[in-house]
Amino acid sequence: MAAGQVTFAGSGPGDAELLTLKALRALQAADVILHDRLVSDDILALAGPQAVLEDAGKEGFGAQVSQAEINARLVELAREGKKVLRLKGGDPAIFARLDEELTACEDAGIAYSIIPGITAASAAAAAIGQSLTQRGRNTAVRFLTGHAMRGFADHDWAALARPGEVAAVYMGKKSARFVQGRLIMHGADRATPVTIVENASRPDQRVLQTTLDRLPADLDAAGFGGPALTFLGLAPRQAAAALNDLKTELA
Ligand code: SAH
Repeated sequence: MAAGQVTFAGSGPGDAELLTLKALRALQAADVILHDRLVSDDILALAGPQAVLEDAGKEGFGAQVSQAEINARLVELAREGKKVLRLKGGDPAIFARLDEELTACEDAGIAYSIIPGITAASAAAAAIGQSLTQRGRNTAVRFLTGHAMRGFADHDWAALARPGEVAAVYMGKKSARFVQGRLIMHGADRATPVTIVENASRPDQRVLQTTLDRLPADLDAAGFGGPALTFLGLAPRQAAAALNDLKTELA
């Protein structure tokens, strides 16, 4: 039997046009597609007619299919000689537990390749007309997760609290109050702009513009049910421009 192989690919943030051509080819060539919940239906519709779709959906704190089961399934399918596509939302190398699945393939002697994808932070930045780095404002940008294996994730709060810092928080809805508390405790300005982009790049995209001070309350009120990316230190471009105008007027 021919040896199977696993292709790990990012599907991007949801808009099918943000798929790479390589990911599209892999979708069309795969025998089996093991996908995350974040992969949109529009993208799965591009799979070849022979492809069997398997939902390895996992969400937030609770796991539907355990990581160990996913690892075992990848190995099992590849050993059957299948061309397996492991499709993950955004970029497979950002908060997607790629390494654990790569190790499982390596341990089983299965060949694999990796196709990068557009990560949620890039799509969300485009949605608000902002750039993730800017000369004179922030020469670095952090990608953080709101939660760790158990509970909330710890970070270098003192560094994040400095004026001008920009961070993209993944899985940040439940941890919004925690993040706010830590930043304020470390001296962050309560007026620091915070922007949350829900369903970035999708038809139901929504943008919530707020401040560190109002973050938990405004997020609760918005009732976002979809995936949401939180920017600390970034306002939508229009608002950023308006704020600068105001500062100039007051000066
Ligand atoms: N590998 C993915 C991230 C997986 S973690 C990537 O590179 O984008 C899941 C988190 O990603 C979600 O909780 C949310 O914070 C973010 N996310 C994924 N898709 C998103 C989208 N279309 N809009 C906003 N946030 C998104």
